[in-house]
This record gives sequence, structure tokens and C-alpha cells, in this order.
Amino acid sequence: MSARRLDSIDSRGRHNPQASSVAASSSGSESPAGSRIHNSMPLRRASLMQEPVLVLNATYEPINVTAVRRAMVLLLKGVAQAEELHNAEVHSSANSHRVPSVIRLLAYRHIPQQSRALSRKNILLRDRNTCQFCGRVFPSSELTLDHVVPRSRGGRSSWENLVACCYRCNNSKGDRTPEEAGFKLARRPRPFTLHTSRQLMRMIGHRDERWRKYLFY
Ligand SMILES: [Zn+2]
Repeated sequence: MSARRLDSIDSRGRHNPQASSVAASSSGSESPAGSRIHNSMPLRRASLMQEPVLVLNATYEPINVTAVRRAMVLLLKGVAQAEELHNAEVHSSANSHRVPSVIRLLAYRHIPQQSRALSRKNILLRDRNTCQFCGRVFPSSELTLDHVVPRSRGGRSSWENLVACCYRCNNSKGDRTPEEAGFKLARRPRPFTLHTSRQLMRMIGHRDERWRKYLFY
């Protein structure tokens, strides 16, 4: 998060500059995030509710990333407690609540790592939104997942067999292996490990300093 960006937000005259910086700092890309914030309040609130929240197990082990909306449900249900808070607040008719940045489950939960972590979003994060065949970077909406060994040939949906792929490469590869299609993988897709999991959480949370002490050790 740059000082320049904070200044520009402050100069718009928000009543709570720190709250604004929260929305700005963790909402993803550069200028689109900034313009979203001062557009309108409902929109800003909506995007705030989508901000990532780090979820810790009862043992303080980071286990997941969820959205503010879901995290607040867990807090209200008494299933989790807030460990770190943003300066931003959300208001309901009766109350106002500080927005959580890190929450911790009160009861230990066993999480099957492999199945939980395999998602389109995580594969794109691992591959840094880079098509693994042409090497170009795309917005998530312009990427698909490619089965390196096609499903029709017994290829599985796994961390080792799924890669980020642009539609163009995906179409031209078709139902063939990379070798058959004359494609070369930019990088061999790595299997999921605890390291991958931490790495993904760091990539999602690198703008939020409150996450650091739970992820960087
Ligand atoms: Zn491509």
C-alpha cells in the first residue's frame, strides 16, 4: 500500500481515513479499487464485505481465507472470535461492528487439506494468472483451467494436472497432451503442500499487515 494512495483517499474527505485505507489496501488491483471506493457508499460497503479475512484454527494455525461477510456470521454465531480488526465498521440497524481482519475458530477443526484447497481461484493464484502455455498474464475472467493430461485420457483434476490457461491456448490444445500439441509448460505444476497453502494465503493477504504474524514464521 503506497502513501500516495492513502493521500489521495484522504483528500477525498472521508470521515475515517483509516477505514478507507482498509478497503483500498486489500481490494486487489490498482486504480479500479480506488475508483470503486469513492463511487458510492453501498458499493463500498459491498466491496468491504468481500474483503479477505484470514481464518485461524483454534491452535492459531492459518487454515483458510474467507470473506468479511462470512467471517462476521461466524463471529455472531460465537463459533469464532476476532483476533485482528480493521478500523472500518459496518452498521446494522441496531449495532455497529468493527470489521475483522483475522478470526480464530474457538473449537479445533480438522481440515482435509487436499480437497479444501483445490479450487480454480487457488490454481490461478499458484500460476500467478499466467497462461502456462503462452506465458502471458491475463485477468482471471480470461483464464480457464486446463487439464495437462486431458480428462478423456485419464487425466485427473488435481494440483499436478491443472494449470491456468488462456482460452486461445486451451482451444488450440484441445484434447491433446502438451507434447502432442507442441506446447511446452512454463512450469511443472506443483502438488499441493502446506507450503503452497501458506504461499497462497500470503499472496491473498500481503497487503494486510495484520496477517503477518500468523503467516510469516
Ligand atoms: Zn495462452
